[in-house]
Amino acid sequence: METRNLIAGVWCEADDGSTFDVHDPATDDLLAAVPKVGETEVVRALDAAEAVRADWESTPIPERTTILRRIADMLVAATDELATIIVRENGKPMREARAEVAYAASFFPAAADAADRLRDEAVEVLGKCVTVRHRPVGVSAAITPWNFPLAMLAKKTAPALAAGCPQVVKPAEQTPLSAIACARIAVEAGVPAGVLSVVTGDPPAIGDAMLRHPRLRKLSFTGSTEVGRLLMRGAADRLVRLSLELGGHAPILVFDDADLDAAVRIAVAAKFRNGGQTCVCPNRFLVARGIHDAFVDRLATTVSELRSGRGQDPDVDLGPLIDDQAMRKVAEHIDDAVSMGASIVTGGGRRRIAGCVDRFPEPTVLTGCGPGMRCWTEETFGPVCPVRAFDDEAEAIALANDTEYGLASYAITNDPGRFERLASRLDSGIIGINDPVPAIAAVPFGGLKQSGIGREGGRWGLEAYLEPVTVSRVGSGRGG
Ligand code: NAD
Repeated sequence: METRNLIAGVWCEADDGSTFDVHDPATDDLLAAVPKVGETEVVRALDAAEAVRADWESTPIPERTTILRRIADMLVAATDELATIIVRENGKPMREARAEVAYAASFFPAAADAADRLRDEAVEVLGKCVTVRHRPVGVSAAITPWNFPLAMLAKKTAPALAAGCPQVVKPAEQTPLSAIACARIAVEAGVPAGVLSVVTGDPPAIGDAMLRHPRLRKLSFTGSTEVGRLLMRGAADRLVRLSLELGGHAPILVFDDADLDAAVRIAVAAKFRNGGQTCVCPNRFLVARGIHDAFVDRLATTVSELRSGRGQDPDVDLGPLIDDQAMRKVAEHIDDAVSMGASIVTGGGRRRIAGCVDRFPEPTVLTGCGPGMRCWTEETFGPVCPVRAFDDEAEAIALANDTEYGLASYAITNDPGRFERLASRLDSGIIGINDPVPAIAAVPFGGLKQSGIGREGGRWGLEAYLEPVTVSRVGSGRGG
């Protein structure tokens, strides 16, 4: 397995030879020591990106998109290897890791299709010939989180390369190995030297070096709102363009016209992907009072039957949390809710898994939750379902929107009249109605309010790497 960085087309260690360790979150076993690079290597990667920028920009779109489609095919062909890496470094169950590889691969044809459809646009203005062209924004950088280490990278790299922008990627320190594997595949697929670099190391040092580089034009970040704000401040000095995909605090609204079994199935599928460590997963369960007790009963039974274990073990539903801090946060949120009057219906403790460290919280259902509780205002990022009853649709929507976040919302209902009202009134960038996984590579993905700025996916993701340039011409060009 490759563990080095790809900088300026060369696989290399840190200049001073320093490394940091990557561990399996289920066991703390050492997986690899990867380079701990600093400013010098980041500058080298960005200088190389600038050196090849003009060539990559002028490579005809069909040539670039052919390479992208080849990357997708190669990612899919390498599913076993990539999913194994994701399971080892992130901990998620193997079937989820395999689904992540497919999801990651789907961003390449989605970006390629969008690029193939790009056309100059003519605008009619009396006496002038006006066209709007799409010019690549220039050298770009990407900083990605650990929870979907391959997919979050693909979401950024695919549109950047399709648009003609070289990119330097910094994956999360917990999960750099799938990014390195993806870069190896991109090189094999024909991405020229310098167009894609991967650097690993100290996050603030790398982030600062990126933002200070005179040729960096665009940074795409996925991670916490707190770090997003920090990067936005850093980007201000040089007006670096930003896409920020930040935290979420999704509500899920369960209406009394829903089929209860289907509702529980959808809610569990949405909540427990990656053990609840997903930016779009429901954090607040709003349930119509008339079905509250029956729903909670079935939800509690279903989640208590979810199986915990190492991601590579057969039939596992929940892997470990990513680290001890994540375990502490889950415990604190449960304690805080209980101290404020919530009741534990199931869970609340930890599961011991043979041969593993203590990172397996019990899937937990809490009732009587609401404003003021930490689980109701902050991302828990764990397998906790805080539930609250509502009396009518207006109250449900008001409670759903009562958050600074606006990434995803879910509703479970069979009332077609309600679909339209929810679609126009829920304040979030993504709305899943009876759909537990409303994330699709060809359509926009991103948040309102404190959940971020900009969109990824399809032509919207491509546009994030393009500048519209207006060319206005007067006269026929024959001296007239
Ligand atoms: P994080 O913000 O701690 O880290 C994300 C990335 O930023 C990592 O690569 C990290 O090394 C880097 N980083 C941290 N501090 C930095 C700094 N000072 N300068 C430069 N880079 C820095 O987030 P996380 O814990 O890795 O990921 C979980 C968070 O990501 C959650 O809030 C989740 O909701 C969010 N997320 C959002 C989306 C989305 O699409 N909106 C998708 C996945 C995850």
